[in-house]
Amino acid sequence: MQPVFELSLANILPPATVLTMVSGVWSIYVFLHLLPMLQLDMPAEHADSEVAFRGKIQLLISQVLAGLMMVCFLRASLTPPGSVPEAVEWRFGAFKDPNMTKEVKSANGERRRCKHCLIYKPDRCHHCRICKCCILKMDHHCPWIMNCVGFRNHKYFSLLVVYALLSCMFIGGTTLESLFQSVQKDMPVSHRFLLMLCFVTTAFMGGLLILFTGFHAMLMMRGLTTIEFCEKQTMVASPHAGKGSK
Ligand SMILES: [Zn+2]
Ligand SMILES: [Zn+2]
Repeated sequence: MQPVFELSLANILPPATVLTMVSGVWSIYVFLHLLPMLQLDMPAEHADSEVAFRGKIQLLISQVLAGLMMVCFLRASLTPPGSVPEAVEWRFGAFKDPNMTKEVKSANGERRRCKHCLIYKPDRCHHCRICKCCILKMDHHCPWIMNCVGFRNHKYFSLLVVYALLSCMFIGGTTLESLFQSVQKDMPVSHRFLLMLCFVTTAFMGGLLILFTGFHAMLMMRGLTTIEFCEKQTMVASPHAGKGSK
């Protein structure tokens, strides 16, 4: 069974917010930071070659990072996260076994099963209520990419987080130069405001992404998914919890 996507406002709003934010920051950075540095409208003899050179380097790095980030965003969003094969051996609804009517954990030695999809679940597979299907090696459902993060798109999601962090750090750091100059130069207040907005947005998102990247790096090093980490934390907090359901 494949994930079912509902194009409701609640589902579309988070990725639309991300894309709006990314395109806004990208536009401000290109038009108010990079283009003034490149000094394309100036004759070569009047242009500051050192600033123009730095502008070219920053243009190259920022566009490569932004490009990689968008490719990973699309791959994480559009790649099916991985579902249980539709072969008959995975279905239990076809067999008349009264015990096979509810999802159980694997601790009692029985095969794990999903009462919603009527299938057996391999290890690390979980049912997503939003996608309405079982996801292989499910990490979590991410509303920002409108998709589950699972076996087939986990790599793209991890790279997306890393490239997003690097983009925020690079854009935020290099925008500071234009922001300082905007105070000394004569420029429209709206341009000054937009440069400040670009810096604050990248600094804020960068701060959040540092925590998020650190958390996922820790999960990777421990070989855990987010769901497994949360299950472990629950077990540590209350060691007897869940014994009744096994
Ligand atoms: Zn399921
Ligand atoms: Zn999902």
